[in-house]
Amino acid sequence: MKSQRPIGYLIIGQGLAGSILAWLLEQHGQDVAIVDKGHENSASRIAAGIVNPVAGQRLAKHPQTEICLTKARAFYAGLGNFFKQTFYFERPMIRLFASEKERTIWTERKSDPAYFPFLGESFSENRGWPAPANRTGGFHQKGCGYLDTWRFLDAIRRHFKARSRLFEQEFSWKEISPNRAHIVWNGCRIEHIISCEGFRAGGNPYFSRLPFQFSKGEILTLESADNLPEAIINHGKWLLPLNSRVFKCGATYEWHSLDARPSDPARELLCTTARELLIRDADFRVLAQHAGIRPGSLDKNPFAGIHPAFPRLGIFNGFGSRGVLTIPYYAEQFVRHLVYGTALPREIELGRCLKNDAAG
Ligand SMILES: Cc1cc2nc3c(=O)[nH]c(=O)nc-3n(C[C@H](O)[C@H](O)[C@H](O)COP(=O)(O)OP(=O)(O)OC[C@H]3O[C@@H](n4cnc5c(N)ncnc54)[C@H](O)[C@@H]3O)c2cc1C
Repeated sequence: MKSQRPIGYLIIGQGLAGSILAWLLEQHGQDVAIVDKGHENSASRIAAGIVNPVAGQRLAKHPQTEICLTKARAFYAGLGNFFKQTFYFERPMIRLFASEKERTIWTERKSDPAYFPFLGESFSENRGWPAPANRTGGFHQKGCGYLDTWRFLDAIRRHFKARSRLFEQEFSWKEISPNRAHIVWNGCRIEHIISCEGFRAGGNPYFSRLPFQFSKGEILTLESADNLPEAIINHGKWLLPLNSRVFKCGATYEWHSLDARPSDPARELLCTTARELLIRDADFRVLAQHAGIRPGSLDKNPFAGIHPAFPRLGIFNGFGSRGVLTIPYYAEQFVRHLVYGTALPREIELGRCLKNDAAG
């Protein structure tokens, strides 16, 4: 696509972060274009898209969980109405206790009013879900669901493409000079460039010094011989039914090898997980295996802001394994900051981790 119109915000990357940021900027009257190469194994494309407000062994809730959940539900429903498609599906979750310690934590949390919206009743090992992993019972978890990320990203992509505001190509940071009064790229005058490159930001010359923590994740798509429940089954690893027979099973975490290639050990581990989480002796076959890199941060909070030394460059990244839940809320905060100059929430500001004026 060639465009001579000036661009207010050029968004690099059309994963969940870039898509949602671009959409909201446009809603706030900004002239936006996206550059995206369309890497098939982007984290957003292969993610299961699960929203789980109290994830992890400690069943701990992030301070912003409620607001993030409210915003995420409203945002995905709103876009569903606009595009006349359903992107987000509310689902119950059956969580199996991994240990007696986890049951103790559940008991403590269950009496805390802050957890009332998320923790349902417990069940013993003879009830709930009759899978081999149900050794000590579990509980019903509320407020969960999943985003069909593929469908969502395709809808946003078509929207920007139809308006000739999508460049389907690799963006090279070597092609720009951010010191000038305005940036010229591909024959266009650009006011701001925002990096939403996922793990590829690790090679970005302006932001690579941010304390990222990348992790490789793998996921299987499987077909079961028996009917599946509607609920997501979670035992640390999880099983997400997409219809009565097809489900996803994930996910692995690997911090050393970051090659985004599917591996045999992960396939074996996830097949074992599926055997543990499906009802006893259930049969299934593998339909697909995917690997991607989660763009996380060391302090588990995302990065949003303008580069301290290059005011035309910004970043929106670092969403780790919780992008579906957190991106709509933080994108809205970032858009308000960019367009109206409101302050960013402290937990996402770049200043929390940049001690001098150079991020790259
Ligand atoms: C196995 C796995 C399972 C997951 N499951 C879940 C889950 O259940 N729930 C959840 O909330 N999160 C999950 N995640 C995490 C989720 O995927 C991320 O939080 C989120 O997708 C990050 O989105 P992003 O837009 O920041 O990055 P990405 O999805 O990586 O998007 C970056 C985009 O930028 C493009 N790009 C980068 N650099 C350039 C360039 N120079 N030029 C052109 N294009 C470029 C890429 O092609 C890509 O499209 C999972 C991740 C993995 C790997």
